[in-house]
Amino acid sequence: MSGDLRVESADLPPQPHDRILFPFQYGSRMAFNDPRKFGRVWLTKDPAGVLAGLGPEPFDAHLGAGEFYQRLHASRRQLKPLLLDQSFLAGVGNIYADEALHRARLHPLRRSHTLALEEAAALLAGVRAVLEAGIAANGASLDWVYRGGNFQNQFRVHLRAGEPCYNCGTLIVRQVVGQRSTVCQPADPSQEV
Ligand SMILES: [Zn+2]
Repeated sequence: MSGDLRVESADLPPQPHDRILFPFQYGSRMAFNDPRKFGRVWLTKDPAGVLAGLGPEPFDAHLGAGEFYQRLHASRRQLKPLLLDQSFLAGVGNIYADEALHRARLHPLRRSHTLALEEAAALLAGVRAVLEAGIAANGASLDWVYRGGNFQNQFRVHLRAGEPCYNCGTLIVRQVVGQRSTVCQPADPSQEV
């Protein structure tokens, strides 16, 4: 999260916040740069022991809409914090959860077990679409640790509170759901549950 893996010449001086350097043969190295110290490095003979707590990868070809629907219904949590839970789905952060929910036209406070199969399929497709767009844009540049990409120019809801929704024209409202979140729908489905 908000760090870099760089492959570069081992002759270069280390950069600020380089936490570990892996020298390779023939003069190159990989640097793990982690300004916020959110990253972890394990030395293990058993990667499964480290990765067992993670949910499926969003791009896992074996993860279909039916299984995703069942995982949503196995929980009764609000969609936004559930998407951020790495044991539910691995690798979705705050920006991508906001953008995926908007693409799927689902409210962040909606309870996961209330989704129909088509809505679950739309959410999985939305997660994949925003991750693909983010990767293609080289990520988002927001501040001194998020820089180098231009996905921020494609945001539909994230950081757009007070601006009109591209789908319906409603002004986007910022609500706090665990972490901050932005939504366009004026109705709050948490009242229905
Ligand atoms: Zn809208």
